[in-house]
Amino acid sequence: MSSSWQRRIERAEELERQHPFAAQILHFYGKVARFQGELYSRLENATGVRPPKPSGSDAGPPEFPELLARFPDFLRVLEQNAPSQLQVVARELRAAPKEIRAELLNEAWSGSDATQAVGTHQFPMCAFLQPYAEFVRVRSGIKWDGYMHALCPFCSRKPGIGVLRQQGDGGSRSLICSFCLAEWQFRRIVCPSCAEENPAKLPVFTAEELPCVRVECCDTCKTYIKTIDLTKNGLAEPVVDEIAAIPLDLWAQERGYTKVQPNLLQM
Ligand SMILES: [Zn+2]
Ligand SMILES: [Zn+2]
Repeated sequence: MSSSWQRRIERAEELERQHPFAAQILHFYGKVARFQGELYSRLENATGVRPPKPSGSDAGPPEFPELLARFPDFLRVLEQNAPSQLQVVARELRAAPKEIRAELLNEAWSGSDATQAVGTHQFPMCAFLQPYAEFVRVRSGIKWDGYMHALCPFCSRKPGIGVLRQQGDGGSRSLICSFCLAEWQFRRIVCPSCAEENPAKLPVFTAEELPCVRVECCDTCKTYIKTIDLTKNGLAEPVVDEIAAIPLDLWAQERGYTKVQPNLLQM
């Protein structure tokens, strides 16, 4: 399994032991990440490179038939490990005609508004497609040096997580795509939602129990994003540490802030 998925799985296991308040959700995430990592390896090892689709084609990604065939296995993982409401959704999806699953996956892949409407389907679709999105992104070889915008330079979705990495005496901030996991530099004192730059409008909160997680808020558009501070803990894995810090989401939401983009688990 690729090292990045392996690190996420191990970090989930570690935080599951450290944070009882998030143990259940991290345990579930670990199962999802294991499937995702295996799917990623499978895609990497698949032989026979297909030609890219002509532009304007909307028939979905080139590996679509293989993906579709693997989807029921993923739904089985959810049926066995997900919270009860999601188990029901997974069971219904597995019982549904293949064409329905194909349609939903295609919608989720293109990120169309239609998918936003079916909230309960959002998680199974996005979680299943995430390793493929990362695979396609890596394969594309796209570089985005100098890119300054708040939306993902690869798939144009909103950022789900911020990251601070050591740079000189301080930390430089980057953002991570909620879907394809691309990471790109972003100015530190700017709201990724409305571009507010006034530091007085951009309060940052931290909790003693979670020292490497910052809640970066904007009082202009009332949004927030959680940023993982790797200068405080170099062992943190942004995707996993963000999920583990659920209490900070509740805290921010009670104060009227809305998350820029829900995480993979739709929280
Ligand atoms: Zn992306
Ligand atoms: Zn804002």
